[in-house]
Amino acid sequence: MDLIAYLIDHAERGVPAEQVPCVQKLSTAFACPYEYITSIGWAVRNDHHIPSDIVLGQYGQSEAEQKFTYFQRKYPTLNWLMTETYELLPNYYGKQTYFIRKALAYRSPVVAGNGWFAVGNTAGFTNPLISPGMNAGIETAFLAATLTGEVLDVPGSQREEVMMLRAAKYQSWTHDYMMSCLQQMNRYWYNMFRDHRLFEALVPCFWATGVGAVEDIQFQRDSEFTSADLGWVVGSGLDRFQEFAKVILNILEPPVEGSTLTDEIIAQIQNLSQECLLERASQFPANKWGSYLRKYDNQLQRVPGKRQRYDGGSWFATHCVECNIWIHDKIIVCPVCGTRQSTGAEEPVQVCGPLRPRRVALPRLSSGVFFIFALSAPAIMVLVSVILERAGLRYKLL
Ligand SMILES: Cc1cc2nc3c(=O)[nH]c(=O)nc-3n(C[C@H](O)[C@H](O)[C@H](O)COP(=O)(O)OP(=O)(O)OC[C@H]3O[C@@H](n4cnc5c(N)ncnc54)[C@H](O)[C@@H]3O)c2cc1C
Repeated sequence: MDLIAYLIDHAERGVPAEQVPCVQKLSTAFACPYEYITSIGWAVRNDHHIPSDIVLGQYGQSEAEQKFTYFQRKYPTLNWLMTETYELLPNYYGKQTYFIRKALAYRSPVVAGNGWFAVGNTAGFTNPLISPGMNAGIETAFLAATLTGEVLDVPGSQREEVMMLRAAKYQSWTHDYMMSCLQQMNRYWYNMFRDHRLFEALVPCFWATGVGAVEDIQFQRDSEFTSADLGWVVGSGLDRFQEFAKVILNILEPPVEGSTLTDEIIAQIQNLSQECLLERASQFPANKWGSYLRKYDNQLQRVPGKRQRYDGGSWFATHCVECNIWIHDKIIVCPVCGTRQSTGAEEPVQVCGPLRPRRVALPRLSSGVFFIFALSAPAIMVLVSVILERAGLRYKLL
């Protein structure tokens, strides 16, 4: 039996996760060596132009290497991270160390038909910012699986007819609704990067109307994915976010390159932001934003001098006590090294730790395999939105 068959067999037999041998043991047993690496790329806005007086040749050989290194060196923190905390793995996947992609964003015009549904990235791609890809991918997979079940439930003679009805439903939800919502969210983010004051005003509104638009932002962590979650779309699918984003985009778009934002426009956005946050705080008083954010209170108001989270935050990710890999905080046995965790996690665990040189290896990300430094400031143009360029590198943490 090979490794894949072995794991599928365990899943079929309902073996609890903690009883499945850890990665290290599986690797030895099945002679499958592995190492954790991280792929790193910059996702650059398509309205960014490298200044004409910059000689890219000084940054490397290929276009991808030159552009990657240009952005790395431009920002001292990036440069520090790349030089002090990572070891470059040349030609890791073949002959190329650096590569570049253009025009990543797309929406497949047809996403379902007789006998098939396109899920995940095959349906479309907006950007890698705030993780819509995997979340939306799960939503499409969930919907496709549900609809497939409905098709299989009817007698064979009716299947084609039902399939086409379900395909139309899927097409409408995925193509018309989900991708539109994500695209609107993309524009919302894209516009806020035009000025740091917009960024400060609009990010909390996204949290308040999208991501955490529930009585308690904890609500989702223990529940199963259900059809109700299909309306979330990483926050972009919620009515209040869509309404708010529409108002904001009516003011800020079109973001003509080089156009200057006036202080009046920014003040208008700041006022709308305040109204939105106060409205949401009164609607959802139980939210504990201040327990998750170091500088904000529970109403998502910035508190001068606040540098620590309030007590009471409940996290969903932690490090393995032995190998330090990120794991879900409810995991009993580390899936990588097999070490039993101290559950109940009275120890504070962090969703995001401070940046520091690390000697542990991070897990390789999904097949997306790109680790994006989300440097969310307008002055830093390596942020993601409509993507034109991407340079990817394989690195190992030192
Ligand atoms: C730079 C970047 C950063 C991202 N960051 C995030 C993030 O932080 N959070 C998040 O949620 N999402 C992120 N995403 C998006 C996320 O990676 C994707 O949405 C997600 O991986 C899509 O999953 P998928 O299974 O649909 O497609 P993929 O992960 O692309 O899987 C498709 C697989 O099919 C294989 N394949 C292709 N053609 C063939 C063939 N002919 N035969 C056999 N196999 C084939 C590919 O090799 C690949 O392994 C990011 C994406 C990019 C590009």
